[in-house]
Amino acid sequence: MYQRFAEIVDAVTAIRHDLHAHPELAFAEHRTAGIVAEQLRAAGLTVTTGIGGTGVVGTLTHGRPGATLGLRADMDALPFQEQGAPPYASTRPGVFHGCGHDGHTAILIGAARHLASLPPFDGTIHFLFQPAEEGQAGARAMIEDGLFERFPCDSVFALHNWPDLPAGEIRTRAGPIMAAADKFVIRVLGKGGHAAMPQGTPDAVLAAAQLVTQLNTIVARRIAPTDPAVLSVTQVNGGDTHNVLPAEVTLVGTVRTFDVAVQARIEAAIRSVAAGIGIASDTRIEVDYIRTYPPTINDARSASIALEAAAAAGLAHGEAPDPAMTAEDFSFMLQACPGAYVWLGQAREGGENPALHHPRYDFNDAIIGPGIAWIAALAARVVGAR
Ligand SMILES: [Zn+2]
Ligand SMILES: [Zn+2]
Repeated sequence: MYQRFAEIVDAVTAIRHDLHAHPELAFAEHRTAGIVAEQLRAAGLTVTTGIGGTGVVGTLTHGRPGATLGLRADMDALPFQEQGAPPYASTRPGVFHGCGHDGHTAILIGAARHLASLPPFDGTIHFLFQPAEEGQAGARAMIEDGLFERFPCDSVFALHNWPDLPAGEIRTRAGPIMAAADKFVIRVLGKGGHAAMPQGTPDAVLAAAQLVTQLNTIVARRIAPTDPAVLSVTQVNGGDTHNVLPAEVTLVGTVRTFDVAVQARIEAAIRSVAAGIGIASDTRIEVDYIRTYPPTINDARSASIALEAAAAAGLAHGEAPDPAMTAEDFSFMLQACPGAYVWLGQAREGGENPALHHPRYDFNDAIIGPGIAWIAALAARVVGAR
């Protein structure tokens, strides 16, 4: 048993290096998806490709039907240049697995191989390999392509490597774990005119200044102090010279929240503040509010099952005290299905541990075994695979 597990870890570590050397961007993970499909078929799973673009689902059923479990890995790389020099460095200039999705894909292939080799259990496991986690909502694309109708899951889980935690340590929490990240673009439209004759020209600069001040009161005055939220205005653009009132000033900013109701309240407040200042200043104000990813919210029971699985797998584990302000598109899956997202520590002791999206980041191979062991312990709990 241990021998077989060690062989699987070695095999998928080699796959991880190959994926690292051949990274692919969002919705272009054709080679990666091909390797995933081939590996899953070889392990005896039923494989469906082309879900939400390049998504792949491997289904493992043996024994009678029972509980259904979804396990997700992301496959895409990032559009920037690797600066580290591992022996398996990226062969594609400007494309790089800087978030460790090569490692997540390898772990989930390893878990599929391991679970497929166990004695029959009563349940079904869907291994969900998604495209385009990095800003392009590949999880949503799979859901819109009927993911959970075609592959119903009672619960769904995902892991992400976490450079701030010791290698092999599992952390998660009930409730929010990753933020919603939204962007707003506000165009304040005046008329433009001579700065010495303001009486005939609505002042877009003054209206924009009032808007910046007023937007900064939204979190303080309209959101309960117990609800974490951030609104930052990050760009102010307008005007060319000292004696012309510009016809347009643009404001850009970001909003981070952990609760969809708070998110909706902030968007509505931005719109009402803009409308009010527009009337008062005689300008026309257009608000574009772009929701990228919703907050990632763990189901409490699933979060505790995830920690129990870590304990059963002999991994250090614990409740994460705070959520992260970054975002994750597994959030779309958790809106459709209860489940939990966990962080798997990957810090190398005494070594350099570049952050996710750092040009010298590299996934730590030492956590492939622990990652597979955690998934196996989770499957034992949810579908009785052991
Ligand atoms: Zn990332
Ligand atoms: Zn990532």
